[in-house]
Amino acid sequence: MVERIDTDICVIGAGSGGLTVAAGASQMGAATVLIERGRMGGDCLNAGCVPSKSLLAAAAVAETARRGAPFGVKASEVVVDFAQARRHVQSVIAEIAPTDSIARFTGLGVRVIKAQARFVGPREVAAGGAEIRARRFVLATGSAPLVPPISGLAGVPYLTNESVFDNPTRPEHLIVVGGGPVGVELAQAHRRLGARVTVVEMARILGAADPELAEVVRVALVREGIEMLEGAAVTAVRRGESDSLTVVLEEDGHTREIAGSHILVAVGRKPNVDDLGLDVAGVAHDRRGVRVDSRLRTSNKRISAIGDVIGTQQFTHLAAHHAGIVLRNALFRLPARAGRQALPLVTFADPELAEVGLGESAARAARPGKAIRILRWPFSENDRARAERRTAGLIKVVTTANGRILGAGIVGAHAGELIQPWVLAIDNRLKIGAMASAMVAYPTYIEVGKRAAGSYYAARLFSERTKSIVRFLARFG
Ligand SMILES: Cc1cc2nc3c(=O)[nH]c(=O)nc-3n(C[C@H](O)[C@H](O)[C@H](O)COP(=O)(O)OP(=O)(O)OC[C@H]3O[C@@H](n4cnc5c(N)ncnc54)[C@H](O)[C@@H]3O)c2cc1C
Repeated sequence: MVERIDTDICVIGAGSGGLTVAAGASQMGAATVLIERGRMGGDCLNAGCVPSKSLLAAAAVAETARRGAPFGVKASEVVVDFAQARRHVQSVIAEIAPTDSIARFTGLGVRVIKAQARFVGPREVAAGGAEIRARRFVLATGSAPLVPPISGLAGVPYLTNESVFDNPTRPEHLIVVGGGPVGVELAQAHRRLGARVTVVEMARILGAADPELAEVVRVALVREGIEMLEGAAVTAVRRGESDSLTVVLEEDGHTREIAGSHILVAVGRKPNVDDLGLDVAGVAHDRRGVRVDSRLRTSNKRISAIGDVIGTQQFTHLAAHHAGIVLRNALFRLPARAGRQALPLVTFADPELAEVGLGESAARAARPGKAIRILRWPFSENDRARAERRTAGLIKVVTTANGRILGAGIVGAHAGELIQPWVLAIDNRLKIGAMASAMVAYPTYIEVGKRAAGSYYAARLFSERTKSIVRFLARFG
């Protein structure tokens, strides 16, 4: 018999976005149902942020051991136990999992249903033998790895982010198809853990980032021994000799083949919109995702969609931000809108690359005919970076001619942390003077931001006019 459930809010998908909505709604007193077909925590916990950053942490330890000599610390030989690195990854997931667990959410008063959800009407969802009718639905079904239609790929074993963290043995030679943030992070992690790694990228790696900043990452990866094939398209894959895999590439009109032991496909994401009954529910969608308005409502106003499934930028903090907007709209009837706050974008390679707001080319395109200022400061002139021998990198700030901050990009150690003051600055429409005048502890990496901000005034401060005023005041003041 079908169980009928009437509820205030029904959330589909227990990943970063869905969990935030469910926790918030239930704690504010709304009757809440949460439906998840796979693992609680979604991609971020199980196959995304958490395992990738944990693997990168293991890789960083290996790299630190290798780089000890200039500090006077020598490790005789760095031996990587890949299986232990994988256990480390799994143990971090296990440590965080209780926060996202059924037990915790049931304790918060959420009814959790472990099943595939499917709309059977404009305000009815079927899942696990129950039919749920809700005042509001929230679609938070996330995304899945995009697997391109490469000839032969379906006939060979290949890895994606969903399987790579379960691989217990170090790949002999990992061929990473795709040089976006996911491909770059996993390429570096495997290289540092002792694998031979080749990255094949159709255009250039980290193509969405400022090229000047991405180049610093590229140089670091190549220096660590990653073979970087940019401007190369994979056209076919087949089994080679003795368990190897052969990848066929088109490069500058030439065809070449490379052999590897493993292939990791990291060419992008596709939103999870299939088998959800979206047409029955009257929810407009296409292959880029579910269509939403600025309040994240779909074409069926009872149904909102958040996170990766709406196919804009795909980040955990963005999914959580969307969740806040939906909660304010649904529970408090506040007309909260998406796209109003600055979104930090971080690639956790070493050096890290972080950006917020407009980059140089986007700023020029957005303000045709208007002057912009580009302020730079290199990590090589930062004393903390010198002390730690982490001098690769720079900050690049974009302002209007009168100093309003439009964007900032940082490549270098801890860039993911260093970007935060710039997020705050853009959200609060601060001018560059605020960043130049704030006191900053010495010696910290964050000084690069203050120095870049200060350079806005350098031309004026050290001009002949200023010098003559100072001379006049010194003599007659
Ligand atoms: C390798 C990798 C590294 C990443 N690193 C970072 C990072 O460092 N920082 C960052 O901000 N972001 C990172 N991301 C992106 C981040 O993981 C996603 O943006 C985030 O998980 C999106 O959250 P979500 O709630 O939209 O979807 P998800 O977390 O994917 O959750 C969706 C859930 O919905 C469930 N579901 C789908 N369809 C149904 C259905 N019909 N019925 C029931 N349940 C369903 C799925 O099983 C899944 O659990 C990374 C992604 C990858 C792949």
